[in-house]
Amino acid sequence: MQELELKIGWLYPTLMSTYGDRGNVITIQRRCQWRDIPVTIIPLDAQTEAETFYQVDIIVGGGAQDRQQEIVMRDLQGKKAAAMKEQLSAGIPGVFTCGSPQLLGHYYEPAFGQRIEGLGLLDLVSKHPGPNAKRCIGNVVFEITASPLAEEIKAMTGEKPLVIGFENHGGRTYLQTVSPLGKVITGYGNNGEDGYEGAFYHNAIATYAHGPLLPKNPFLADWLIQKALEQKYQKPIFLTKLDDSLALKARFAMFERLELTGVTNKA
Ligand code: GLN
Repeated sequence: MQELELKIGWLYPTLMSTYGDRGNVITIQRRCQWRDIPVTIIPLDAQTEAETFYQVDIIVGGGAQDRQQEIVMRDLQGKKAAAMKEQLSAGIPGVFTCGSPQLLGHYYEPAFGQRIEGLGLLDLVSKHPGPNAKRCIGNVVFEITASPLAEEIKAMTGEKPLVIGFENHGGRTYLQTVSPLGKVITGYGNNGEDGYEGAFYHNAIATYAHGPLLPKNPFLADWLIQKALEQKYQKPIFLTKLDDSLALKARFAMFERLELTGVTNKA
């Protein structure tokens, strides 16, 4: 039998890992290792050549403050942006948090200074309403509605595809033609107005929910791993089940705390 292995590309680890975003990388790594699938973590940053972007099987990007985000957005423009666009458009999966989706859109207007051009990969724009505007901070719960992700997660878990996360952002994101990732049940989501959370493009998940996203929602981690391996080996992949009882208990405790046990009914 062919040995499987996975290469995680981690976008700008030192500039973009606020609020526990590193947790997403660790979760993918550990869930592979528990299944005896070796993992290599490859930083994708200012020292990396654009060619390296083609060598990874999955891309993880975290959040950043506006200043760091500007440095990253400038460094990515050109060959690296083209490589990332090509990879994600070909179906390489990714999970992009907070500042990362902002930089995958057309532009981000920070609280201070000039508009920063994004990669234009996701048809969305992000704007900070100014230094006096309230930040969007707190627990967020949303139901995944993006297709086919929602159906695939339902088939995998037998449950409604509910995601629990934590958000902390000043910028507000407005989707144009790209699909939302989900519908907000509690929290702000993309902008606190239209009820949408995140965006979904091919196999890339963009969300305001920070780095505990994958530990709190292990089915999303498995979906990403499965897609990455299927894309890499071009064959169906069946992952062995792991014991997620602790994560499920934590999810239930959060639903209780947020008085949302009523929405967790079976799909
Ligand atoms: N610059 C962004 C904002 O405040 C992103 C913040 C973050 O990634 N936590 O909107």
